[in-house]
Amino acid sequence: MSRKLLAFLVSELSIVRIICQTEGCGLVIELPVAECLQSGNLPMTTCPKCCKPIGASTPDGTVQNAVAPLAKAILDLQKIEKRVQVELVLPGDEAP
Ligand SMILES: [Zn+2]
Repeated sequence: MSRKLLAFLVSELSIVRIICQTEGCGLVIELPVAECLQSGNLPMTTCPKCCKPIGASTPDGTVQNAVAPLAKAILDLQKIEKRVQVELVLPGDEAP
């Protein structure tokens, strides 16, 4: 039995797509990985269409950019890609 797998290197990642899950919204935001680290003018904590929070809530009630840690990890791994490569693997459907 074999499984179809889709694998890609972290070094290949360049764009992060954020999709608002608020019912009736569904806004799609695509940003280069490095821009996800910044919170300034970017819509990383509140959806610009429906104004609902899209960040991570902290215990004190503030909303933080939840994508920033992912972007930092991707950029850190890309810096060391000559020494180690990390692949993300998505399992597909079972082969017939
Ligand atoms: Zn939204």
